[in-house]
Amino acid sequence: MAHPLEDTLIARQITPTPMRLLVLDVLQKEPTALSLADVEQHLKHADRITVHRTLKTFTDKGLVHRIEDGSGAVKFALCAPACTPELHRDLHVHFFCVRCRETACLPAVPVPALALPGGYQVQETSLVVKGHCPRCAGAV
Ligand SMILES: [Zn+2]
Ligand SMILES: [Zn+2]
Repeated sequence: MAHPLEDTLIARQITPTPMRLLVLDVLQKEPTALSLADVEQHLKHADRITVHRTLKTFTDKGLVHRIEDGSGAVKFALCAPACTPELHRDLHVHFFCVRCRETACLPAVPVPALALPGGYQVQETSLVVKGHCPRCAGAV
């Protein structure tokens, strides 16, 4: 029987397990990027090491990407379907709200190419923009 969450995992060569399905479900339901602690909070009885390992597997397989937004905790967000472990295609800008401390993917805003001095070989570029998200900006 077709199961959308299982299909998403299988498409990335990830064997579906109950924990992986639960973590994927949490990531899909949340509009913002989640830290390990955030995911744990959604899964009341989950073991931290298992959740950590699950997120690492997802990252290695190109299902999620890591975001270092300066809050001190690495956050995770689902990748675009076109991403592969070799080539994360969703090199988009992330927005960190200094008020609610949530991080959002901005898939419509690509990270601009930078003209670096000769000799530097870029592996990846990340760009985190800080400010107030639409919800917080409206409440200020
Ligand atoms: Zn906010
Ligand atoms: Zn993102």
